[in-house]
This record gives sequence, C-alpha cells and structure tokens, in this order.
Amino acid sequence: MSVAGTVKVRCPACKAEQDTKLVQSINTRKDPDAKQRLVKGELNVLVCACGKQTQLAANVFFHDPDADYYCQVCPGGDAAMIKAAETFRAVGATGTQRLVPSLNALIEKVKLLDANLQDWAIEMTKVLLLASIGVRDLDRVLLFDTVDRAESVIRWVLFDERGRDPKVVASPLPAYDKLAARTASKPAPSELQIDRVWGTRAVEIMITNQN
Ligand SMILES: [Zn+2]
Repeated sequence: MSVAGTVKVRCPACKAEQDTKLVQSINTRKDPDAKQRLVKGELNVLVCACGKQTQLAANVFFHDPDADYYCQVCPGGDAAMIKAAETFRAVGATGTQRLVPSLNALIEKVKLLDANLQDWAIEMTKVLLLASIGVRDLDRVLLFDTVDRAESVIRWVLFDERGRDPKVVASPLPAYDKLAARTASKPAPSELQIDRVWGTRAVEIMITNQN
C-alpha cells in the first residue's frame, strides 16, 4: 500500500487553498496503481478548478521489490540529498539506490526501469547525443521517451534552451548498448545521483582513457 495523506495546497494561479492527496511512498508490488499514475504524470498533481495543474514538490520514496530498486525524490537541494543518502546507508538497503531532485526525474527513472535500460548508460548516451546533434549546452533538457527495439532506436524528447518547444529525436540503440556494456563506466553502489552531471563526467573519463 502506498503511504498517502492529504495536504492543503494553494493554487499558484488563482491562490485558492484546497485539500490534495499526496502520495509519499510507492511500493510497486503492493500498489501498482500508484506507479501507473506516477508514470502518466498524474500523481501528486494539484488539479485546480481554475484549470491550473501544479506538480507538488514532496519527498517520495519509490521501491520496486521485483527489480530490487529504490529511488528517493528529495526536493530541497544538496542538504536534502545528503540527508537522504545518510538514510539509505543507515537502512543498509541492497540493490540499486538512487536520489533524484524531482518527481519528473523519478518518472524518467521508472520509465527506464520498465524499458530495462541502465540509467547510467542512458545519461552517457544523452551527453554524446547532444554533442552529436550540435547542442553545446550539455544541461539542455533531454528526456528518455521510449525504446523501439524493432527499429533499434531510442526516442527522446528534446526541449529548446528555454525548456520549451519539445521535439522528438532518435538515437541508435546499438550506441547505447555499447555504453551499457562498458563495465568500467558503471557507477559504484555508493553513487546515488546518476544525472547529467554524472553522465558528463563519465563521458570525459571515457574519452580521457581512450586517448
Ligand atoms: Zn487555481
């Protein structure tokens, strides 16, 4: 069962205060429905009568026991991340452990888990893909969308420099597979934040070692 409660939230558009259901823990085996709503972007969203939809910033703990996978959403910056990392260590959980700053980042992680793709090789793929299509800003918003194994491509959603105007781009799946096979790049169990910063560093190390 998911841990859920009700919180009072003020709509940022019309300022009306209202009760909203907030889910802070998801166990995919006990609550597959919460996971489905998460992936569809329907979880922890304030849908106001005025039409405005707002994603709530909250700590959310995600556990997929079948994949032995844990992910904690910690909005609130580095201090929150450090505290969450300490909690992981104190609990002594085994399996894959991740920390992400937002619910959207968790959604991407869960989509990757469902697609049976390694997040670390995906982050490296993103950096190489941006470079290959001439995007100099390696922080550009680029999100995993789907993997098409029949066409042998990964599809992504690329946003412009202002984080708008999403476009679908594709990259060859074999390029990802090559990275995923690089055990030298694989993060240590203690590396919990596998994000663009991590991916950029991993690609730099890979290139340095090739030269
Ligand atoms: Zn409103």
